[in-house]
Amino acid sequence: MKTLKKNICESCGMLMKSMTDFGTDSDGSINTDFCHFCLDEGEFTDKGISFEEKIARNIDMAVKFGMSKVKASNLVKNTLPKLRRMRKSTKSKKVKNNAE
Ligand SMILES: [Zn+2]
Repeated sequence: MKTLKKNICESCGMLMKSMTDFGTDSDGSINTDFCHFCLDEGEFTDKGISFEEKIARNIDMAVKFGMSKVKASNLVKNTLPKLRRMRKSTKSKKVKNNAE
């Protein structure tokens, strides 16, 4: 079985552990920079969201995954500004799903 190194979604900071956690590009290939909650077929599911909304949304998500609201809030506010999506455009490197 193939092992993947630690990947963190560059949009929400979620840890992605299996292939199904990754988002997909418009051509259907896996994009290891973003999770499937954030990137679906090359489109961000929350396209146009503001930074503040994004923070609130990510806190909600972390709470759903069992984190306390305070901890989630601290984590998101620390993590989000460092993520690539918040710094530049959505275009990123691709990893081909099947080797050629
Ligand atoms: Zn994500």
